[in-house]
Amino acid sequence: MTAATPTGLFIAGQWRGGDARFAVHDPSDYGVLAEVADAGVQDGLDAVGAASDAFATWSVTPPRQRAEVLRKAFEIMTAEAQTCARLIALENGKAWRDAMGETVYAAEFFRWFSEEAARIEGDFRYSPSRDKTIITDHRPVGVAFMITPWNFPAAMATRKIAPALAAGCTCILKPAHETPLTALWIADVMKRAGAPDGVVNVITTTNTGEVSSAILQDPRVATLSFTGSTWIGKMLLKQTAERVLPSSMELGGNAPFLVLEGADVEAAVAGAMIAKMRNGGSACTAANRFYVHESLVEPFTASLRDAFAGLKIGPGVDESTDLGAMVSDKERDKILALLDEASEEGVEVRPAQEAPDTGAFVAPTVVSGVQHGSTLTRNEIFGPVAPIVAVSSTDEAVRMANDTEFGLISYVYAADPGTGVRVARRLESGMVAINRGLASDPAAPFGGMKESGLGREGGFAGIHEFLETQYFAVDL
Ligand code: NAP
Repeated sequence: MTAATPTGLFIAGQWRGGDARFAVHDPSDYGVLAEVADAGVQDGLDAVGAASDAFATWSVTPPRQRAEVLRKAFEIMTAEAQTCARLIALENGKAWRDAMGETVYAAEFFRWFSEEAARIEGDFRYSPSRDKTIITDHRPVGVAFMITPWNFPAAMATRKIAPALAAGCTCILKPAHETPLTALWIADVMKRAGAPDGVVNVITTTNTGEVSSAILQDPRVATLSFTGSTWIGKMLLKQTAERVLPSSMELGGNAPFLVLEGADVEAAVAGAMIAKMRNGGSACTAANRFYVHESLVEPFTASLRDAFAGLKIGPGVDESTDLGAMVSDKERDKILALLDEASEEGVEVRPAQEAPDTGAFVAPTVVSGVQHGSTLTRNEIFGPVAPIVAVSSTDEAVRMANDTEFGLISYVYAADPGTGVRVARRLESGMVAINRGLASDPAAPFGGMKESGLGREGGFAGIHEFLETQYFAVDL
């Protein structure tokens, strides 16, 4: 934090902040980092007005010019990566390495969509009867309302802002109340990158339900892009249904991690350390339940427990930290409650090491001997806890992996990539990482099946969340 870190509301290119403020905390020691402006309904509607006014010009700004703003945002974010990572590590608690990794990932959305802005395609063809031509056009949908979670304060914002601006949309971003500082910093980056006033607006609030409902009911808002829990996503879908508002939903996960017979155990453990521990386990993509072939379960469990025992726990801003704090005591307590429930179900919960007793830390814990269908396999844990279930066959692993209402991502470790792909085709998830612990890439379509979401972000698909298809019938 520096005196220059913005703490106001960013509306129509101006910083605004009245008397109402709320505190942002460092979860590693509970210190107050800043007091940020607490938007009310009128602020939200002012942001809609600013975005709506700016849309008239931005939507017809040449794509190359829109691309240059995004490219500049990429360059600023890359040059100032340390500043961004520090804000993330401070307000989210995640380890420095994860905060830097997120910053690079977040900046890449600006670069990718700066390239996509100039490549929005249309279609021209003759009707089968040759009585007309069919011209298909894509145009910006309008003002986009974006709601993001606390676990990736930078990347979840840029994954929405970049395609929206590339498509010609303007936006209002509402970040999570735990992590508003990174989003406000990104607003400043957009201003410096040359985004015209009103193209990007950021409002921070603790009156979330009220402010969001007012924005969603405003007829000037044309689409909602939400990332967060399935529970809140469903609640928002009921609201958007009232206006038949297009809605993109990136929701919760319960990722299975399959270690099949013949897989390389050490490679699987290395992958598991990324899939499970990146972001301290607080990722929608975090491996949540491990289905390990019975022939491999002992070495896999022992090796994973050793790796957990070797992690250095501490504040995120300390560059030597491997595992930072959870974002809040509330999130830490949710994880501890799941572990208590698991103990009551009869599994032995033995942390691999102790966690510091001040700050929102959770000790890294491998839980072996877990039954499929028990608490730890049914719930999104969102922390450094790895439940391991022994399985006797690939069919059993696939059946258990699919036995959930979620379908965001799965991980498969197999003896060879061909087997991995054949198993991946049987898995009900929008993404599958095969013999690797990480799938996310701005150039790939990110998104889930089942209750994990609607739509895709990133890749070639991401820009279409912000485009409307229009067809012209012409005698040509
Ligand atoms: P959350 O509780 O659903 O909150 C997400 C966002 O929704 C926050 O900005 C929150 O604002 C806002 N919100 C809460 N109540 C609302 C309401 N009544 N109306 C409008 N907005 C409302 O989720 P979280 O705890 O921050 O994030 C964790 C969840 O996100 C996990 O389930 C994770 O899997 C999911 N996630 C999914 C993806 C993906 O791409 N699929 C990526 C990251 C995270 P406040 O902070 O003000 O409450």
